[in-house]
Amino acid sequence: AVVPVITIDGPSGAGKGTLCKALAEALGWHLLDSGAIYRVLALAALHHQVDINAEGALVPLAAHLDVRFKVQAGELEIILEGEDVSGEIRNENVGNTASKIAAFPRVREALLRRQRAFREAPGLIADGRDMGTVVFAEAPVKIFLDASSEERAHRRMRQLQEKGFSVNFERLLSEIKERDERDRSRPVAPLVPASDALVLDSTRMTIDEVIAQALAHSRRIL
Ligand code: C5P
Repeated sequence: AVVPVITIDGPSGAGKGTLCKALAEALGWHLLDSGAIYRVLALAALHHQVDINAEGALVPLAAHLDVRFKVQAGELEIILEGEDVSGEIRNENVGNTASKIAAFPRVREALLRRQRAFREAPGLIADGRDMGTVVFAEAPVKIFLDASSEERAHRRMRQLQEKGFSVNFERLLSEIKERDERDRSRPVAPLVPASDALVLDSTRMTIDEVIAQALAHSRRIL
């Protein structure tokens, strides 16, 4: 039987990560954080001093990327070349670098099989930008989770403040807008809702409301 997939796409900070974890838990399904793969590739390029503007140099790095995902005490650990990089890949520099290298078609191509391998019984929740349009274009359930850039910057600011970082809201907002603009305007696998996706705008929703609507939508279809 075909293993079902629920795709969750959208811009950064819309709440995809939280929604995907909640869905994976509620259904007992596997989880793919595809952004983490692009982030790990960015980090590997930075570590190995591979030119992030050179598609030809990034493709072999992507094809041979030594990355493992390990669930440890309910938390996802991301291991690059034997080293736990779960914290390091979350910084803004890595996110921006990821978004730059993610614009190269052959880099995306080199990561396709690796992402599709996450599809295992009983089901997969796939988190990213092109899960419903490219990687799992035939998925039965697709959700596009959006929110205003101001709201997303506020959420990100609160997250960083909780971790003890001081942040400049205006700078955060302009970085978020710049990264989204790059993701939305690239010619290959741009950030757009699949034609058959349910679009949820979480700007004025609580995370519990988002989870409830996503679950209700999934159960209607599955
Ligand atoms: O979701 P996250 O912020 O971790 O993703 C980092 C970057 O990786 C995104 O800004 C995007 O450019 C890229 N990405 C992508 N396709 C995906 C997931 C992430 O291009 N499926």
